[in-house]
Amino acid sequence: MAFSPKTRRYLVIFLLIGWGISLSYFALRSKKPALPGKEAIRFYRDNRLLMGTFWEVISPDKRSSAIVFAEVKRIENLLSKYIEGSEISQLNRTGKLKVSPDTFYIIKKSKEFWQASGGAFDITVAPLADLWGFTNQEHVVPNDDKIKLTLKLVGSDKIILHENDNVVEFKFPGMKIDLGAIAKGLALDCCVKILKENNIDSCLINAGGQVYALGEKSGSPWKVAIQNPRKPEITGVLKLKDKSVSTSGDYEQFFFKNGKRYCHIIDPKTGYPVSSGVSSVTVVTDSGIEADALSTAVFVLGKKSGEELLKKFPRATAKIF
Ligand code: ADP
Ligand code: MG
Repeated sequence: MAFSPKTRRYLVIFLLIGWGISLSYFALRSKKPALPGKEAIRFYRDNRLLMGTFWEVISPDKRSSAIVFAEVKRIENLLSKYIEGSEISQLNRTGKLKVSPDTFYIIKKSKEFWQASGGAFDITVAPLADLWGFTNQEHVVPNDDKIKLTLKLVGSDKIILHENDNVVEFKFPGMKIDLGAIAKGLALDCCVKILKENNIDSCLINAGGQVYALGEKSGSPWKVAIQNPRKPEITGVLKLKDKSVSTSGDYEQFFFKNGKRYCHIIDPKTGYPVSSGVSSVTVVTDSGIEADALSTAVFVLGKKSGEELLKKFPRATAKIF
């Protein structure tokens, strides 16, 4: 059975973490006593399909997975463009909506990343994603006239935010937003906040390859493997404590037409899928939202401009392939 590239990346991270967990179990079962002062800790692990990807939770506290899955579901119900009743779907239909504080916050943050990235990160690419068939998975290469016309609906400066009453308004009919490049990051941050409120200080959340590592695993940083986007090999292992890591690349979702590869991340300047010469970008930083948005933005910008953007975010480090 073939796995999608995304599933494969998930599996690599899964296996490496699994190795750590197996050792913990081994310590539990071993006849030898644990090292002096070191108690073998039991880890609980659970997974769930949410926001279109596998979420995996590993923690010594058995409450963690239920907390994470409930919170991710709440965020998905607010932000998914695939859920008819979500605030984003309603906004995309009506062009003006009073939204919840979380939705307002993520749209506001998205505009900030749009500004910082010189327009490379842009949630208003949704009509272009529709045009290229990425929304319904019926991929097509549209003609240039259609792309030019659709580009008129793109640009986060065309989103008006009414701060006093949390109303979001689009300047032009037909505009839509897509939070696919940032919503999982926000969901990770919201989960971490609730875990901490419940006095849980050790948990690894893996959202289909985008990870938040809360605290430590048995007194050491959590270990997460990064896979080579083009070959089935690991390019490095990250040691993470209170950090998020996100990867964006052209191997996630793509299609081939006449020998050319078209990926699901779109350059808002041209209206075409990105071809910046980069195949994947991995960003490590303090928050899920920053890791998610920056990995997408740097992928759009390419190596040179991407590195310039990263200078504005001193807490972030990146690997660009
Ligand atoms: P994934 O979430 O699939 O791991 P990303 O975080 O890079 O990868 O997000 C990609 C998604 O973001 C696309 O599927 C699309 O919904 C949306 N998107 C595409 N191009 C852009 C862009 N230039 N800026 C912001 N969002 C984008
Ligand atoms: Mg992203």
